[in-house]
Amino acid sequence: GKPGLLYKRVLLKISGEALMGTREFGLEPQTVNRVAEEVKQVAEMGVECCLVIGGGNIFRGIAGASQGMQRASADYMGMLATVMNALAMQNALEQAGVQTRVQSAISMQSICEPYIRRRAMRHLEKGRVVIFAAGTGNPYFTTDTAAALRASEMGCEALLKGTKVDGVYSADPKLDPKAERYETLTHHEVLSRDLKVMDASAISLARESHIPIIVFSIHTHGMMAEVLQGRGRCTVIGE
Ligand code: UDP
Repeated sequence: GKPGLLYKRVLLKISGEALMGTREFGLEPQTVNRVAEEVKQVAEMGVECCLVIGGGNIFRGIAGASQGMQRASADYMGMLATVMNALAMQNALEQAGVQTRVQSAISMQSICEPYIRRRAMRHLEKGRVVIFAAGTGNPYFTTDTAAALRASEMGCEALLKGTKVDGVYSADPKLDPKAERYETLTHHEVLSRDLKVMDASAISLARESHIPIIVFSIHTHGMMAEVLQGRGRCTVIGE
């Protein structure tokens, strides 16, 4: 790879909530643009970049299901929400001058490409950012699992989880002043201590694929670039 870069190809997972900014739901344009700037910075460093964005800012399937909807129907609505977020992010990236393709696990050919693994690989090789929308395309899954799945399929060297905080803590740092940030953890420790990083199926899949998960603050300017050069504040979950 390029000097100073730890990873040549990565997948960034952010939740839908990461794009809400100060709003209670939906998208805040400044926040979407700020996240796009972070991605632009690493893409311009020569890192091949994939993105998976959640949909919880628009619709969360399980919550919908608990209000009497069928779980599968609610989950399909959740997946559609991720497509909206993907289109917003594509728009922000392209306005910032970064070529971006959206591929959806549920085909909707008039607004984005269907998910085709080999085609996604080609986009990455050409330096385009690829956003994977509609999660895994299956109900009963999450976009965390979709992120681990696509990272495995694309041969990503790291799965970056951009959050509100700068890593994984022993307790909620907002509630417990003694909470400590871990520098490193193993996938197994995250699972056995039930640490809230990503859901268990995502962690297991990343572990099986030997992909480290790096938890960092997506709202700290320049942090993703720092992390990819091995000097940022983050928690690295690996072997
Ligand atoms: N979803 C799904 N299958 C998938 C990915 C997502 O059914 O493969 C649905 C699920 O209902 C979920 C919603 O989409 O609640 C939004 O995704 P998620 O909760 O992962 O979003 P985030 O919390 O990251 O914003």
